[in-house]
Amino acid sequence: IPLIVEHEGRVFPQLGLKVACDILGLDVMKYKIIKTPLSRYIKIGDKKENALYIPVDERNQILVNWAAPWGKAFKHYSYIDTITSYERVLSKNTPHIILEGFKDKICIIGLTAPGLHDIKPNVLQPAYPAVGTNANIINSILNRDFIRKAPRWLDGFLILFMGIFLSMNITKVKPIRGASIAVLMLAAYTLMSFTILDSMGLWVVLIHPLAAILLSYLVITFYNQIVIAIEQSKLYTLATKDGLTGLFVVRHFNLLLEAEINMIESRGGELAILMIDVDHFKEINDRYGHQAGDFILKGVADIVISYCRQLDVPSRYGGEEFIMMLPGAALSDAATVAERMRRRIEGNSFRQGNIEYRVTISVGVASFKEKDTKDDLIKKADKALYEAKEGGRNKVCLERS
Ligand code: GH3
Ligand code: MG
Ligand code: MG
Repeated sequence: IPLIVEHEGRVFPQLGLKVACDILGLDVMKYKIIKTPLSRYIKIGDKKENALYIPVDERNQILVNWAAPWGKAFKHYSYIDTITSYERVLSKNTPHIILEGFKDKICIIGLTAPGLHDIKPNVLQPAYPAVGTNANIINSILNRDFIRKAPRWLDGFLILFMGIFLSMNITKVKPIRGASIAVLMLAAYTLMSFTILDSMGLWVVLIHPLAAILLSYLVITFYNQIVIAIEQSKLYTLATKDGLTGLFVVRHFNLLLEAEINMIESRGGELAILMIDVDHFKEINDRYGHQAGDFILKGVADIVISYCRQLDVPSRYGGEEFIMMLPGAALSDAATVAERMRRRIEGNSFRQGNIEYRVTISVGVASFKEKDTKDDLIKKADKALYEAKEGGRNKVCLERS
């Protein structure tokens, strides 16, 4: 409600303000507007002790401090009852209402019946008569009990502070713990804002800091989950893949092979493995150096990978030996793959600068038979590889059945 309206050089005080000033013995026309960083006031009266400070907004409006719902805060008498009671007292009859109740009281007369003019909704009720609004303004001024809105910068600061404070406290914690901190902050902030309103009459913004808390929580938790997922995938790669060739490490290969064997044992199916060894690799190292050896190993691994289907698992078994699992492949299928791979490597020249290297591989092929363990299977492939070496190298040998 505007307390002071200036129009064409004239000043119009609001009715409740005028009444309150009259009771306090203050001249409402001698008002001043005072601004502080926290508030804006209308000041009425000169003497410090008596002066009235009423917090208002930029348009000199007061926030009405509603005392209670209509009918609970103020005594309310029917106008007709009051008049007829007065007539009855004059004619020495018993009045409908006891008129002593009016003594030394401020009486405001107005329309209160719903459906009539000047009935408006407020925060307490859908219909509140204007006399009630004036009564609340007078009550609030006489008790010097006002509500003022916090300045924008304080609201902005609270929003920012809530967001940053939560961020600092939940970036390093688990989502559940972060959620409890967020809920705790929501509750604490709500309680704080109500306490501040109740004790100081200061109305700080409520919804926006709460939204800031929720939003910070969601953004940070989402961000954390992504970072965790990325780190986990990096760790997985580090733990399962060989640094030089990018093939799986033996430990991981063994796990996968064992899982595959278990599955075949329960559901049936075929499985073959290749054991691959580079021929005379020691000589290459001796002649061209270890770095050239690494380069060739990487090149051989790339060719091995290029012969893998989605299901196949290539792995670096150790040194210049590779092992490859071909789920669903029969011995003959695996032998075909091995032979193609052998020929491809035999025909390939690994170029590094001006130098060309040529290598060959020997391959042992074995397939899963009932009751084979992982070690049985590897042993069979190893034996076949040994035969390929014995047979002159650059060869594919199958397990003996
Ligand atoms: P064979 O035909 O009988 O397989 O002969 P080979 O020389 O390949 O066999 P041997 O097992 O005697 O030698 C393997 C060599 O591979 C020995 C080692 O120096 C080399 N080697 C193992 N791992 C690496 C590696 O990561 N990088 C390089 N450059 N050389 C390696
Ligand atoms: Mg070798
Ligand atoms: Mg070897």
